[in-house]
Amino acid sequence: MPVLRVGFIGTGIMGRSMAGHLLAAGHSLHVFNRTQAKAEPLIEQGALWHDAPGDVAAASDVVITMVGLPTDVEEVYFGGTAAVPTGQGVIDRARDGAVLIDMTTSSPMLAERIAAAAITRRLAALDAPVSGGDVGARNAALVIMAGGAREAFAHVRPILGLVGKSVTHLGPAGAGQRCKLANQVAVAIGMVAWCEALAHAKAGGLDPAAVQQVIAGGAAGSWGLSNLAPRALAGDFAPGFMVKHLLKDLAIARECAAATKIDLPGLATAESLFTIAAEHGWTDEGTQVLYRLYAGTDLERIMP
Ligand code: NAP
Repeated sequence: MPVLRVGFIGTGIMGRSMAGHLLAAGHSLHVFNRTQAKAEPLIEQGALWHDAPGDVAAASDVVITMVGLPTDVEEVYFGGTAAVPTGQGVIDRARDGAVLIDMTTSSPMLAERIAAAAITRRLAALDAPVSGGDVGARNAALVIMAGGAREAFAHVRPILGLVGKSVTHLGPAGAGQRCKLANQVAVAIGMVAWCEALAHAKAGGLDPAAVQQVIAGGAAGSWGLSNLAPRALAGDFAPGFMVKHLLKDLAIARECAAATKIDLPGLATAESLFTIAAEHGWTDEGTQVLYRLYAGTDLERIMP
């Protein structure tokens, strides 16, 4: 693979590991993050710091974004805010022919808007959100779900392969985000499933840690039960994946479900439980904090 100038905007829990793999593969890495301190480890390894998202774009052949919320994506791509003035967003400042890849979990409609705006500037934009958590990012073992122009996807497929073990093109702009929303519906309902299973075992007098080990190997097995339940049982609620980001995903999934007129009662239940977790002030905790709602309490108290 030729050495590319890769821009990376958003070096948080996921982005810092992902960007590190690109650097380790020999690409020249241009970085920006709202809080510069979180990019320092990458800068120490040779990444070049820029003071604004547009400056990263102006220096890069491929620009990857891994920020938090759709509003963050909008700011970085389109500007028009105090932090990124109009004309200074990634779309305005990117080099001709650049490929822009948003790996944030965001709205499919926003991905479509970005792709349309990119075309008017002779750029290509892909949405390529990921699954696999902080562990997957650290191990370059993410599952990547991409939408957008097939030629642009083929062009950057080798770059995506440096952070993902599975890289799939699902369709036009927005298709990656729609796949990720399906993933989040399954993840959120699955979280409720293993929390309830362990609460049920504990209430029946069993050691939930022993039960976790046993049932993780059977038909109830899931990524969350294997990776997050042990953290929850050990009282480790550090993120991982923050409650506020899951709630953001579930709100987008709910809006898309409403637009396509389907009813998802499991999603509604999971969203209401994570909303209660947020009301406890746990928005920046890892999603495994949901188990705290169950530990030492009962469902009647969780859902009055
Ligand atoms: P995170 O730790 O909050 O990282 C996001 C980073 O983006 C932060 O460092 C943040 O800066 C920066 N950022 C946000 N808005 C920005 C802006 N407007 N301009 C510049 N930088 C900005 O979150 P994360 O866990 O890495 O998740 C990132 C995205 O991936 C989210 O959409 C999340 O839903 C998704 N995701 C997460 C996981 C997971 O397990 N963590 C798994 C799959 C997908 P600050 O440092 O100033 O906050």
